[in-house]
Amino acid sequence: MHRYAKSKDTKAKLAPKQKISYEKKADPAITEYSVKALNWLRKAEFLMSAPKLALCVEDTGYEIAFAGRSNAGKSSAINTLTNQKQLARASKKPGRTQMINFFSLGNPDQRLVDLPGYGYAAVPEDMKRVWQKELENYLIHRQSLQGLVLLMDIRHPLQHFDTMMLEWAHSRKLFVHILLTKADKMNRGPAHQALLEVKQNLKKMKLNFSIQLFSSLNKQGLEELASVMAGRLNYTLEQEPEFDLSQIPEATIDDEDEADLVLKEE
Ligand code: GDP
Repeated sequence: MHRYAKSKDTKAKLAPKQKISYEKKADPAITEYSVKALNWLRKAEFLMSAPKLALCVEDTGYEIAFAGRSNAGKSSAINTLTNQKQLARASKKPGRTQMINFFSLGNPDQRLVDLPGYGYAAVPEDMKRVWQKELENYLIHRQSLQGLVLLMDIRHPLQHFDTMMLEWAHSRKLFVHILLTKADKMNRGPAHQALLEVKQNLKKMKLNFSIQLFSSLNKQGLEELASVMAGRLNYTLEQEPEFDLSQIPEATIDDEDEADLVLKEE
C-alpha cells in the first residue's frame, strides 16, 4: 500500500515539506562602503552661499555639484541623501535660489554644492543670462569641482539645458552622474525602459556618463548615489576610525566576587 493512501492519520505520515526560503535577495548596491558613505553624508552642514565664483569658499579639497532644472527634485534628493529634512531649504530661501550653496560633509574639504535650478520661470531673462555666466564661470574655473550629479525628472529627461550641462562637463573632463528622479512615478518596466533610452541617447552623443534611477519618495537608488558621492569625494573607510572591540580590556573578577561565586555554586 502506498504510504500516503487512506490512512486515518494521513497528516502525521506525510513526509515533511521541504522548507522554502523566501530570503530577500541582497541588493548589490548595498555594501559596507555604501552604508558607511550614507552615514558620512548625514554629517552635511550648510557652509555658505555665494552669488559668484570669486565669493565661493576656498577652492581646496573636493566638491560635487548638484544641478538640474527647477522642480527636478534636487532639494528632495539632497535632503534624502543627507537625511536632513531642512538642509536644502537653505538653498531655497529667498535670495539664495540663484546662489551657489555649499555644504561640508564632516570636513570643509569634502563638499556638496547645490547649484541653482535652471529654467526657473520666475527669474527675469536678463538675470538668467547673468546667472548663466556665473554658472559657466564656476563650472569652467572651479578646481576642486570633481563633477556633477545631474538630476532629470524621469518623465522629461535630456531637455535643452540638461544637454548643455552635459556638454560643458564633457569639455571640462568632469564626470557626470545622472539621476533619473521621481522613478516611483513609473512602474518598474517603463522606468527601466526610460533608463535604457537615456543611456542610448548618451551613447549617440558620445557621452560616457553614469546613470541610475532615483526616488526620494521610496529611497530607490540611495545607496548607489551615496557610493558614487563618497568615491568621487575621496571618502575612505579609514576616515572614520571604527570603535575597536578588541581594544576593550577584559573584565576581571576580583577575589571577593570569586569567593561569592564559589559560595553560590555550593
Ligand atoms: P527642486 O526644485 O529641483 O529642488 O525640486 P524639489 O525637490 O523641490 O521637488 C519638486 C517637486 O517634486 C516637489 O513637489 C516634490 O515633492 C516632488 N518630488 C521630489 N522628489 C520626488 C520623488 O522622488 N518622487 C515623487 N513622487 N515626487 C518627488
